[in-house]
Amino acid sequence: MNEKNSIKLNTARGRNKPNTVVNKNVTCPFCTDTKPLIIQDKLMLEDRGKMFWIENKFPLLEEAYQTLIVETDKCGESFATYSLEYAKELFSFIFECRDKMLETKGFKEVILFKNHGHYSDSSISHSHSQLVGLKENTYDYKEIEDSMTGPLVYKDNNVRVTVSKVPRAEFFEFNVIWKRQNQTQDYVKWVQTLIQYLSVFKKGRFTSYNLVFHETDEECMIKVIPRKPNSVYYIGFGIRQTPRDTEQIANEIKKFSGLSV
Ligand SMILES: [Zn+2]
Repeated sequence: MNEKNSIKLNTARGRNKPNTVVNKNVTCPFCTDTKPLIIQDKLMLEDRGKMFWIENKFPLLEEAYQTLIVETDKCGESFATYSLEYAKELFSFIFECRDKMLETKGFKEVILFKNHGHYSDSSISHSHSQLVGLKENTYDYKEIEDSMTGPLVYKDNNVRVTVSKVPRAEFFEFNVIWKRQNQTQDYVKWVQTLIQYLSVFKKGRFTSYNLVFHETDEECMIKVIPRKPNSVYYIGFGIRQTPRDTEQIANEIKKFSGLSV
């Protein structure tokens, strides 16, 4: 980590930022009855009814254009509960919005991710994804690449699913990888399956997760990352803990997904 990989956080802008993850009494800003306020504040970028793309009202990052895709009109719903058809429609919408951001000049990078739950860095529990245009920063996929390989859960002509042998942080990471030219959206079922799998993974203790999107010239990928606080080994010393049982977890996911092991 060096200055090149850091981005300035304007903490003063966050003073009035609502947090429904830690404070359940705060009014949800993404529910149907608050949508007129979003429109009134001129934050709406694309409205598709149940799902919509908006500017972040509390953009804390400097040199960035922060936007959100509100995924559903129902609080409490998530990728674990959407119908497969709805999840596919949602991913199409997300990538459509991403394409529009990529066409916009002035971003060095457009990043796509999702925070879910207390340990994911999420502040609003109503399910949403984030599209952020970075004006000054880039990242190097080569630094991520190693974490895409590991015990195989599934592979066919369209998609492959792995458990990271060497995860980026210190815990387990699941990867869904598909060819760029593939139009089948088979990856959606796997992203959903992995999120649903978290209900039994390590006895369902990890309810927070991130989704992170990457792409190369040939492939697209989504990392599903169950989250917990990072250890002092990592934060204090930069030493990563690498789980021993990745093979076993890959087999467990196979079983969970209905694949025979
Ligand atoms: Zn809500």
